[in-house]
Amino acid sequence: MAAVLDGKATAVKVKNSVASKVADYIAHGGRVPSLAVILAGENPASQVYVRNKKKDCEEVGIFSSVYVLPSDTSKKELLDLVSFLNSDPETDGILCQLPLPRREDENEVLEAILPDKDVDCFHPYSAGRLFQGNPLMLPCTPAGIIRLLDEYGIQIEGKRCCVVGRSNIVGKPAAMLLLSRSGTVTVCHSRTPDLASHTRSADILVCAVGKAGIITGDMVKPGAAVIDVGMNRGADGKLCGDCDFDSCSGVAEWITPVPGGVGPMTRAMLLENTLTAYRIHEGIV
Ligand code: NAP
Repeated sequence: MAAVLDGKATAVKVKNSVASKVADYIAHGGRVPSLAVILAGENPASQVYVRNKKKDCEEVGIFSSVYVLPSDTSKKELLDLVSFLNSDPETDGILCQLPLPRREDENEVLEAILPDKDVDCFHPYSAGRLFQGNPLMLPCTPAGIIRLLDEYGIQIEGKRCCVVGRSNIVGKPAAMLLLSRSGTVTVCHSRTPDLASHTRSADILVCAVGKAGIITGDMVKPGAAVIDVGMNRGADGKLCGDCDFDSCSGVAEWITPVPGGVGPMTRAMLLENTLTAYRIHEGIV
């Protein structure tokens, strides 16, 4: 049976580390780090995510402000708010919760966020720096995956890594980070023929598709680390990942559960990024 990579426990370690650094800065007369979250519309899942982010911030001593806007907020109003937050010296990180009610506004709004406040790392400049191996901050979910691998001493260098999914938010940046750690990376997607032939040769398998059960035990290399990013609702209404946990854990050496794997790590890395942004603004090296 595979050992479980405990994202919940590792996230607590990350949060404790952020909290102690924040306390230290404040104890030495520094200002309080802060995160501004923009929530436009009434998407129930987004409301939960934003509530959780606020709670996480409170737990580690980061000040968070949530700007709740109605569904019919115009692109100009969103851009004006981003512009205000960009120029606000008290705001370290800016996060615009996606999806926006008008999906067509998303790129322009995300690109308006200053890169040194771009704690989600969705700005093309942030993606470009990641591509060049010189990131200011790391995208939260991929960074959480790497942190989890590191926590359990799972070597990346020299290993075959397979990332299933090529989104700008998870798949591509996860592949870039694994590459930057000297893994040999294959990226698969919906048009990859014979997906199993790729997943089966991976020492580290990252699955970020959004389809429950797309990875089964027979697609996993014995001894592999299986990182399940997917968040789906199973037929029973319960949260589940992309990987069939029972069959995969019979073959893999390591596996992340859903819930309790990558999800908590994503949340924790946002706090780390907010602290990084704070350090940039305060000139702390
Ligand atoms: P996305 O933008 O929909 O991307 C899904 C990717 O999966 C696409 O690249 C798609 O390929 C690929 N794909 C679809 N069907 C496939 C198939 N049959 N075989 C191989 N690849 C296939 O999704 P995302 O934003 O990356 O999110 C992926 C999942 O992770 C979702 O369940 C999401 O909820 C979850 N997620 C979790 C966290 C967390 O913190 N745990 C964070 C973010 C996302 P094409 O490019 O060819 O269409």
